[in-house]
Amino acid sequence: MSELGELPGELVQRLGDVHSVGVITGAGVSVESGIRTYRGQGGLYDDPEEGERMVEALSSPTLLRDPDRTWRAVSSLARQVGTARPNVTHHELVRIEQKVDRFVLLTQNVDRLHHDAGSRNIIDIHGDIFATRCMSCGLVGRLEAEELQSLGRAPRCTECEGTLRPDAVLFGELLPHDKLARINEEFYELIPDLVIVAGTSALFPYITEPVLVARYSDKLTIEINPEPTMLSDRVDFTLRGPASRYLPLIAAALS
Ligand code: NAD
Ligand code: ZN
Repeated sequence: MSELGELPGELVQRLGDVHSVGVITGAGVSVESGIRTYRGQGGLYDDPEEGERMVEALSSPTLLRDPDRTWRAVSSLARQVGTARPNVTHHELVRIEQKVDRFVLLTQNVDRLHHDAGSRNIIDIHGDIFATRCMSCGLVGRLEAEELQSLGRAPRCTECEGTLRPDAVLFGELLPHDKLARINEEFYELIPDLVIVAGTSALFPYITEPVLVARYSDKLTIEINPEPTMLSDRVDFTLRGPASRYLPLIAAALS
């Protein structure tokens, strides 16, 4: 049996006709780089108290009341991201981008591993943890990993001494307009031939809708996740297991 034998025959056949691909990723694709998810097995929410504390610290009310606490939480996430390197999944997505005519990657991850691997057309809808914005003058900047990992309190703006905030979407905040507009262009105005959703518990409408729209438009839809989600019964193919097992096969089957 060929290595592609792990994929259903009908799926392999349909992959041969794909020219444009949209991929949606969540924390699960970074597990094999050593970064914990929020939900699912081994996730932060397996310890509900720890999860609750993290969500509260990473929320907009806490940022306004006690920015030092928010930054200590971001700093602890940064220590987890630490020296993590992209894994097979991140690399295979770069390969897919190089193979097809049009490719877009919508990620909820804030770890920048898709960027590090070399993916180009990325919509990082939640931003990334290394980016900063001044709450007084609006200046945007970045922190080095070592600096972020050792922060004990909120950093200050080099221009105006104002308090910096993470330039990422915190719990309870709205998504950035420019990135929502890009989702619209890439997933709704031009629906990709194939939409893959991998490593996300798929709880938010901006994650599930692009998959459902593709499905109802007779495009090919695949979910890769070791655990079921609300999308599992609604996609054409559910591949139950780690993303690193299936993405090399999907990349190989694309013509
Ligand atoms: P989530 O934590 O809610 O869900 C993770 C999902 O990944 C689960 O469904 C789990 O079954 C699945 N999974 C676990 N291992 C997998 C593997 N090897 N292959 C494929 N799937 C696997 O993650 P989410 O849906 O991304 O939502 C969490 C939020 O937390 C996001 O908004 C994100 O910004 C943030 N977050 C980011 C990171 C990161 O950047 N790496 C890490 C944790 C949380
Ligand atoms: Zn400033």
